[in-house]
Amino acid sequence: TIEVPDKPIIPYIEGDGIGAEITPAMIHVVNAAVEKTYGGSKRIIWVEVLAGDKAEEKAGDRLPQETLEFLKEAVVGIKGPLGTPVGKGVRSINSALRRAFDFYSAVRPVYWMGQPTPIPDPQRVDVVVFRENTDDVYAGVEFFSGTDEAKKVREFLIKEMGAKEEGFPEDVGITVKPMSEFKTKRHVRKALRYALENGRKNVAVIGKGNIMKATEGAFINWAFEVAQEPEFADKVLTDPEAQPNEGQVKLSKVITDQMLMQLVLKPDAWDVVIAQNLNGDYVSDLAAALIGGPGFVPSGNIGDGYALFESTHGTAWDIAGKGIANPLSLTLSGAMMLEYIGWREAAQKIYEAVKKTFEDKVGTPDIAAGFKKLGIEAKAVSTYEYAQEIAKRIQ
Ligand code: ATP
Ligand code: MG
Repeated sequence: TIEVPDKPIIPYIEGDGIGAEITPAMIHVVNAAVEKTYGGSKRIIWVEVLAGDKAEEKAGDRLPQETLEFLKEAVVGIKGPLGTPVGKGVRSINSALRRAFDFYSAVRPVYWMGQPTPIPDPQRVDVVVFRENTDDVYAGVEFFSGTDEAKKVREFLIKEMGAKEEGFPEDVGITVKPMSEFKTKRHVRKALRYALENGRKNVAVIGKGNIMKATEGAFINWAFEVAQEPEFADKVLTDPEAQPNEGQVKLSKVITDQMLMQLVLKPDAWDVVIAQNLNGDYVSDLAAALIGGPGFVPSGNIGDGYALFESTHGTAWDIAGKGIANPLSLTLSGAMMLEYIGWREAAQKIYEAVKKTFEDKVGTPDIAAGFKKLGIEAKAVSTYEYAQEIAKRIQ
């Protein structure tokens, strides 16, 4: 949680594709919740900053310097989806933002609010995935089979580093998986602080440390080292038999494949999952699927001193402009942002209101179709009407 003034300036990026529809919907709901909670005493001053297609049109640059500077002035921001035009040699704005602000933890709380789901007991799903966001195979250092580079690396590994030839035949391709102590530990600290602040007791650190000892195994060891630091020593229990009391959490190590299985078979086993970048991607998508897909899951990118919240889905150009996009991922990201600035009551009101829309069986066409698939009648409304239905139920 961070401190903000009662009338904070919060920048938002509308986003490409369905961004133009879901962003106004999110703002409508967040404003309604803040108004209902604080009367006029707290209010968000929204300021649009440009990125993506809109920025290209108006400023000739998909991520203008002005946008970066404005975002840096604030402590939180929120964004709709941004596309990356393929084949134009432009790098993704999302990764440019991640680098500019060093958002090293991606946080995805996955919980069920009453929406139609593929599993019979979605009420058991309530888990927060902390995905490391700067390390791992995303470094993009790869050597393709058949290239001189791959041959050189192969030769070096076999001749100088003692790698076995059977693992590195002539036609091998190689992807490098870096993982650092510094990056892992700052991520783990964020996750443990979150668990402690939010009373989430069962924390798992995952990885296939038995196979990838220098990376995922090290990640797990570093997590347990963090647990011994003065800030955490009394609060983070690591004995497998320990029972955490009020103000304490328990840290356990779980092999990634076990975690994936447990999420499906006993989704209530874990409150927080601390993951590497690639494993975090798998785990958060699996968890999201249990409660109906990423369209229902918010996301926060957290660094030191700055956080940017965003929808988990993409630009969905196939449905853009039709008024049928589901605004929940971004709207719940807005609620998550309110929690982050300490306006928890307002966030709570959004969750309660969204639950009521599901009880009343009203939603965007994808939600209505999900209910119909389960044999339940539901009313389909447009993106903005759905925001109004949520706002109407805020109490
Ligand atoms: P990107 O290239 O930015 O990832 P995308 O079009 O692939 O964009 P995804 O988020 O990957 O978008 O979604 C895949 C499909 O799921 C979309 O084409 C769309 O039909 C559907 N979809 C995604 N988000 C939503 C949403 N918020 N509401 C309704 N349908 C959605
Ligand atoms: Mg996509």
